[in-house]
Amino acid sequence: MSEHFDIAVIGSGAAGIAAAVSAARTGAKVLLLDKNSAPGGTGGFSGLTTLCGLYDDAGKFLNNGFAREFAEAVAETAPIKTGRLWILPYRPEKFRSAAEKFFTACSTLKTVWNSPLKNVVAENGRIISLNDFKVGAVIDCSGNAEVAQTADAECLATDEATQAPAVVFQLGGVMREINSPADAAQVLLPIIRAGFPALNFHFNLEANAITVKFSGAPEQVPALIEFLRVNVRGFQNCSSPQTEFKISRRAGRMIVGEYILTGADVLSAKKFPDAVARCAWPVEQWGADGKTKLRWLPPDEFYEIPARSLRAAKIKNLFMAGKTISADADAMASARVMGCCLATGEAAGKLAAQSVLKS
Ligand SMILES: Cc1cc2nc3c(=O)[nH]c(=O)nc-3n(C[C@H](O)[C@H](O)[C@H](O)COP(=O)(O)OP(=O)(O)OC[C@H]3O[C@@H](n4cnc5c(N)ncnc54)[C@H](O)[C@@H]3O)c2cc1C
Repeated sequence: MSEHFDIAVIGSGAAGIAAAVSAARTGAKVLLLDKNSAPGGTGGFSGLTTLCGLYDDAGKFLNNGFAREFAEAVAETAPIKTGRLWILPYRPEKFRSAAEKFFTACSTLKTVWNSPLKNVVAENGRIISLNDFKVGAVIDCSGNAEVAQTADAECLATDEATQAPAVVFQLGGVMREINSPADAAQVLLPIIRAGFPALNFHFNLEANAITVKFSGAPEQVPALIEFLRVNVRGFQNCSSPQTEFKISRRAGRMIVGEYILTGADVLSAKKFPDAVARCAWPVEQWGADGKTKLRWLPPDEFYEIPARSLRAAKIKNLFMAGKTISADADAMASARVMGCCLATGEAAGKLAAQSVLKS
């Protein structure tokens, strides 16, 4: 056996990028491992183009650390206000290249791509090695509690009925403004009448482009695009730069930590003495019919996420960030947005580093 790392981060989505960089900046020797060939996770590869959960109701950053740094590194415009919420449009390629730049600046960080998690060995309630590397602490940023599952830590399931998966894709050549719900309704009505599953439109930085979140199957996307071309004004020349369409899953497994953040904590804007991150995004549920149900925090409020929700209850050296934090399904329906994943990633990176550097 092999090289020793103070901290291993599994998964390089928003949470893993933040965790790996923040842990490495403390001087800890960090391994970042992903089954993909490059960093980005859902934020970099699913087709998404809007970072949510970065701002409060006034449009100010909720978390001033790495979440802000990363947002500023990918930003090409000011944030946009949609109703009560502020979002930051971004290009997925910039999300990926920004991650690479942050990694290059960390001399104690090693990245390993195309490496699915394997050979997790736990002894006396601690993970001692994975992928044949010895490790001091582990941060599960896999979006689905992959480390926890293998190490027999207790997990919480979420519910795909309220977190329906979707196919996200970009559509260029759209010669029509879709700036309001009324604009969108005019386009959506013929699509629904033709029997296609529901879809939503989102902001895209490219000229004459929109991002689509489609609740149907990937194989239906070409027929949908053809329908738009033939039947909907302004879409005659639309096409997608993507050649492959895939399902992205909103739901994943969460890991039981020292505290389970609840939907009630979120909606009451609860504060904690051991708070490490802030979020103000509503509890956002997505039905299989493509409809969203939002439950809001009080105006101008935010909730906090305690350090205890980032530490696994049963495995002493296991931390979690992003979609795997210790939260019930309602709390995760808010905390899963990328702004919050970046903030919990930074916090988990620092907590893991503290735990190994002091021992
Ligand atoms: C359809 C959809 C629409 C969304 N819309 C938005 C939006 O508009 N704005 C927003 O902010 N958020 C949105 N979200 C939520 C957000 O994108 C995710 O919750 C967030 O990106 C999760 O980040 P993460 O780092 O926790 O996990 P992920 O981004 O899922 O990253 C997990 C990483 O772990 C790696 N991994 C997984 N298993 C293994 C393994 N066994 N071995 C090695 N590596 C592994 C994966 O390859 C991946 O790189 C959306 C999500 C979906 C699915």
